[in-house]
Amino acid sequence: MDCDVVVIGGGQAGLAAGYFLRRAGWDFVILDAQSEPGGAWRHTWPSLRLFSPAEHSPLPGWPMPRQPGLDYPTRAHVVDYLTRYERRYALPVHRPVHVDGVHRDGARALAVSTDRGTWRARVVISATGTWRAPYVPSYPGRDIFTGRQPHTVSYRGPEQFRGHRVVVVGGGNSAAQILAEVSNVAETLWVTRRPPRFMPDEVDGRVLFDVATRREASRRSGSEDTGGVAALGDIVMTPSVLEARQRGVLHAHPMFTHLTRDTVAWSDGSEHPADAVLWCTGFRPALRHLRPLGLRRHHGIIPTEGTRSVQEPRLYLLGYGDWTGHASATLIGAGRTAKSTVAAITRQLSAQHTAGI
Ligand code: FAD
Repeated sequence: MDCDVVVIGGGQAGLAAGYFLRRAGWDFVILDAQSEPGGAWRHTWPSLRLFSPAEHSPLPGWPMPRQPGLDYPTRAHVVDYLTRYERRYALPVHRPVHVDGVHRDGARALAVSTDRGTWRARVVISATGTWRAPYVPSYPGRDIFTGRQPHTVSYRGPEQFRGHRVVVVGGGNSAAQILAEVSNVAETLWVTRRPPRFMPDEVDGRVLFDVATRREASRRSGSEDTGGVAALGDIVMTPSVLEARQRGVLHAHPMFTHLTRDTVAWSDGSEHPADAVLWCTGFRPALRHLRPLGLRRHHGIIPTEGTRSVQEPRLYLLGYGDWTGHASATLIGAGRTAKSTVAAITRQLSAQHTAGI
């Protein structure tokens, strides 16, 4: 099966790329491992709400409709939006198709091998997100601790922890939001490597996107760095986190040094009994399918110029975080990066066409 572009991943980043590829008139497919639309949003915990209002979470072309009665949409609303989005633009999403590997196939093509056959393309966009690569740091004793050790990926809501002693690990948004709801039904202890950095109460996704946009504009114009969103803090004060602060549960303790059979413990000899340690310790880019290309990694990421791989110019990476475009791992940011990526692909393929390659 031959085409101009294969997009790997049918989450928001892959769909945004599809929108612009369709407009540019390229022959393309989107291959997605899931049997249903929605990308990672389908797997997050049911109570998760966006940290921006719907009108600030648009993909290109068709803004997310408001969810009646709610300022901050639920994740189910996002799944519904993504489902309707791919139908609206008749995006050629093939699912479930799992990509096993991307290989070089001569000078002109990359071969994308899957459990449903092989596609050959002049360009590949990898948009596989991070949800499939949860990260848990290694601490001594993890293997002897007898309690549960779920990661954010398997968190489905607080009920499974009712009445238990739960240690929540991590200083980011997932940890704060999960702590906020688990602390309603369980005895919680929050531990972080560094003291948590809370954003000002009035900062939500809108403000974060504006700050990222201003910084990008000043970078492009060569003027002074206006500072990125990191300067504001790490944790958005969503309604549930604000409510937890009011209840007095947002107190973080230093990270433990090791685990025992039934406690987490510190080097000064102190211990805290625990039935569960909940690792809200983030994700890594899900890039296993790119291994056959043998690309060197730098601090875990693949070096890019814009979103194009430096070592493999037929490969683009989309939606993994700021290293693939400012705010590219958010709904509103995915469109901007997809647009510039497809513009770059169009220049590349048109130049090849002109040169008769
Ligand atoms: P994904 O949604 O993960 O989609 C990738 C797709 O690729 C999946 O369908 C997957 O099955 C598929 N795939 C993976 N590997 C393969 C393979 N080998 N072969 C074929 N298919 C494959 N963003 C916001 O804008 N606002 C928010 O409020 C917000 N809150 C968030 C809260 C949490 C807890 C998290 C984790 C993220 C949040 N985000 C938010 C960030 C972001 O919007 C999501 O992470 C988003 O899902 C990333 O989209 P994506 O398309 O890059 O990846």
